[in-house]
Amino acid sequence: MSQEETLRIIPLGGLGEIGLNMMLIEYGDSAIALDCGVMFPEAAMLGIDLVVPDVTYLRERPGRLCGLVCTHGHEDHIGAFPFVARELPVPTYATPFAQALLENKLDEHELDVPIERFRAGDSWRIGPFEIEAVHITHSIVDAVALAIRTPLGTIVHSGDFKFDQTPLDGVPSDISRLAALGSEGVLLLLSDSTNVERPGITPSERSLIKNFEAVFARARGRVLVSTFASHLHRIQQVIDVSARAGRRVAVAGRGMVTNLAIGQELGYLRVPPGVLVELGEVRQVPPERLTVLTTGSQAEPLSALTRIATNDHRQVVLEPGDTVIFSSRIIPGNERAIADVTNHLYRRGAEVLHEHVASLHVSGHASQSELALMLQLTRPRYFVPVHGEYRHLARHCALAAEAGVPSAHCFLLEDGDVLEIDGAGVRRGEPVIAGRVFVDGKGVGDVGDIVLRDRRHLSDGGIVLVILALNQHSGDLVSGPDLISRGFLAEEESQVYLDRAREVVLEALAGLAPESRTVPAEVKEEVRKALRRHFKRTLDRRPVILPVVVEF
Ligand SMILES: [Zn+2]
Ligand SMILES: [Zn+2]
Repeated sequence: MSQEETLRIIPLGGLGEIGLNMMLIEYGDSAIALDCGVMFPEAAMLGIDLVVPDVTYLRERPGRLCGLVCTHGHEDHIGAFPFVARELPVPTYATPFAQALLENKLDEHELDVPIERFRAGDSWRIGPFEIEAVHITHSIVDAVALAIRTPLGTIVHSGDFKFDQTPLDGVPSDISRLAALGSEGVLLLLSDSTNVERPGITPSERSLIKNFEAVFARARGRVLVSTFASHLHRIQQVIDVSARAGRRVAVAGRGMVTNLAIGQELGYLRVPPGVLVELGEVRQVPPERLTVLTTGSQAEPLSALTRIATNDHRQVVLEPGDTVIFSSRIIPGNERAIADVTNHLYRRGAEVLHEHVASLHVSGHASQSELALMLQLTRPRYFVPVHGEYRHLARHCALAAEAGVPSAHCFLLEDGDVLEIDGAGVRRGEPVIAGRVFVDGKGVGDVGDIVLRDRRHLSDGGIVLVILALNQHSGDLVSGPDLISRGFLAEEESQVYLDRAREVVLEALAGLAPESRTVPAEVKEEVRKALRRHFKRTLDRRPVILPVVVEF
């Protein structure tokens, strides 16, 4: 028998936070990456658009990465792809829906990397690894778990999953395949920890139908539904319930329009003829005959729903009697922004329904009983929880022990930790560089403006602080804008530029609808966008721009 190499499990992201998912599986000096996701910036990360995984480990080892496999098309799994692909252009594999989303990203970033399409049930080889895709249910179509056969045994990665017994498309998770893998013998299970704190079973997507029907039956005016644009099954439900209620459906927000087109083209979305109506024609549809599907479920600045809420949307103008549904979970950190948008929606006279008011959203992640079932089906020798904050990972280790995996075989790894397995057994290896890299410039839509920064280099372009005070009811400027810079320009010349920049800020504010000026996130985004463009054009500089909005 040939000399065995060491198998290494190296999380570069996603273990210790929600988002940023990227897992390396390495055998000898060949590695594959599973997913490469973003994390949305926390409020404390001022001036940052996106957070992507640090791939220094791979950069310092050219030729090591042989392929990238995406488990599904959520941003926390594919969002960093353009940034990773630019540095490490390796063969990339994705299911059809994820492939379409990845190709959109490549277009946006003007990159050309071929993406191989696979489907659940397919098997293929990458370097020393034999990959098999296993269908699982999640809050996006075309999600898979992966079985990765290595010379030392089979690794199962659950992907993001739930065991929905009555999924909308009628195709439940391939439980029998998972059980068969368990019978063959699983060396290591990596499993989704997101909902490990929730007892029982996550409700089926189908359980929402009657709740949507009840809301639609009661609604006197328009119904607006905001959800993730990638959630095709949720979108399908809204379209079906609308059609049955005699409503036409309009679509607001670029991501929603794009994904609706992709979903229809790939056959994942069936829209009855005559149901869709152009946004430009919604004014001719009586309110009680109209549904609007919209982006903005996290109250993202500049999103369609935020614009509608602040009466700043050209086609959709809310009226008393309209109903707005947030059919999504609140991503931690967005509570304040969502509360702000909700206040504005009520100001328009709309009724707002979200997860605390009505059951119009179910999670896409497995709860405790389903996680235990995954462990019992695969019966792994070793277990590493993934996709969660530290508390989720710790709780999942405890659950695995209850489900029969010996505690000494459960490993709580964080980003950069290394688990080594060879003929002699398992042990922790030397940690590697891993962490967060900040991306500044996504919002501009201009590729030249994308700047990758890590914490050490954050000050390269200098920093410009913009402080302004606004009346929280009228949106009027109370004081400022005051601009302060550090490391940006020499002090004597900087004043001239900052005076001009101040004018740019005033122009940006004047361009916003009055009610938009009462939404701090909206103001900040607009100010950053305008200044970024201005400094790029006049100075070819990219300082970090930190708008601070004080409300009076
Ligand atoms: Zn997901
Ligand atoms: Zn995820």
